[in-house]
Amino acid sequence: MLMMNNQTNKFIYLPIIVLFTFVLVGCSHTGNLETQVVETPIPVINTPSPEINTFIEKTKIVSQTQTPEPEEIEFEPALPEYSLSVKFDYSNQSARVNQTIIYVNNSKQMLNDIRLATDTLRYPGSFSLENVFVNSNEEKLEQRKYYFTLLLNEGLAPGEEIEIQINYFLSIPPLPPPADDLKPGIFGYSTVQTNLVDWYPFIPPLSENGEWLLHDPWFYGEYLVYDLANFYVEIELINSPTNTTIAASSIIPTSQVDNLYHYSSSRVRNFVWSLSPSYVVETKELNGITISTHTFPFHQPGGLHVLQEASKAVELYSRLFSRYPRENLTIVEADFLDGMEYDGLFFLSRGFYNLFDYTPQNYLTAIAVHETAHQWWYASIANDQALEPWLDEALCTYSEVLFYEEYYPELVDWWWEYRVNYYQPGGYINKSIYEYQGFVPYRNATYLQGAKFLQSIRDELGDKIFFDFLKEYATNQKDKISSQTYFFDLLRNYSDIDFYQSSNYLFK
Ligand SMILES: [Zn+2]
Repeated sequence: MLMMNNQTNKFIYLPIIVLFTFVLVGCSHTGNLETQVVETPIPVINTPSPEINTFIEKTKIVSQTQTPEPEEIEFEPALPEYSLSVKFDYSNQSARVNQTIIYVNNSKQMLNDIRLATDTLRYPGSFSLENVFVNSNEEKLEQRKYYFTLLLNEGLAPGEEIEIQINYFLSIPPLPPPADDLKPGIFGYSTVQTNLVDWYPFIPPLSENGEWLLHDPWFYGEYLVYDLANFYVEIELINSPTNTTIAASSIIPTSQVDNLYHYSSSRVRNFVWSLSPSYVVETKELNGITISTHTFPFHQPGGLHVLQEASKAVELYSRLFSRYPRENLTIVEADFLDGMEYDGLFFLSRGFYNLFDYTPQNYLTAIAVHETAHQWWYASIANDQALEPWLDEALCTYSEVLFYEEYYPELVDWWWEYRVNYYQPGGYINKSIYEYQGFVPYRNATYLQGAKFLQSIRDELGDKIFFDFLKEYATNQKDKISSQTYFFDLLRNYSDIDFYQSSNYLFK
């Protein structure tokens, strides 16, 4: 248990290791190489002899007359559009929301219902539905523990569009005090911040066989799977203290007049925001990307450190994986003991700032770059966080050591020792969140064993091939919901070793 001797900033210095236990709770496409590049079966010859030349010419002529393979046009699904108009009353921590969703059935089958994942239903008394209109006709929703179902009388045919208007009232719950048996709450308010995460009903993705990818919430880990979507968010702050600033997924409001803010964010997984009258905001531009930190005043040095290290991580991961997938990165000090990633924004536990010792050898740095990596492994390349959590968490944990290798090679051993080996992690990395016997076995397997597994692949493949693989994985799966199947299918292109079959890290 973490103990604070006073709220401002000092921890009773429990061995750092204990802190780690709390830290982590909180990520084909049919064309393959053969079809894309080969026009006709021409044998590869080092020094072509003249006969061969004429043979090649002839073949080319022949092939040119053959009807070329139809180019595979990748289906570009119409993204759901979310428009949210929010009147947020700071004095009673409540919000009145008018929301409209424009949704197209991108699947090949008729939809007879639509699921609306509504995580705020899990906070008793927080979500009150007022009314719902479908294509301007008033409708009813069936309520479940963490989602609503809209039954479609006539069904929604493939390619057909529907407009759903939902009006509701949010009563933001207080952030629960830290408890070691419960996942820290993120949606909520405290004396210094209000966080709105997974605060609106959204339509989950459909699986290939037409099922809603909406799993049950669990005691640890994340259960939500997100499709890409476009967001237009209007926020009016009412009764908010002066100097209240909003930290949002998309950095700069497209417009702001007094207390009315407009944001738009396209091709992203979600839209979250956090507000406080106490944030100290620091910003840095990096290759056209705006990185900003929102930190409490007594942790400003830590905030500056995070800004610097996260920027270095963005630079490195852009080289190793793929171009940074967003225009901004918003980093928010959390008034709860957790780090948590969202699309374009992440929270960093105030506990890490408390322990900041003006060096990179600490959790503030390690977790800041971990969460930064989630902009690749979670936001750009999504995964089913409930069924395949390792796909983002193992890659983000491993991205930490890649950061230390690049910028602080003298700390790589420290990282392996304190971050991983100290816990003597075990367990299969590729189980669902429901199959681990608690947070620690889950974290040990998916994060820590996951990082060791990736190191074992790299040891086999060597750096060049390993990073080529990672780069192709990141590029090919950009804007997609990836899968373990895809990961290992691609890996088979890089090695004769079948890591899926041969590795002891994996449950088969
Ligand atoms: Zn993570």
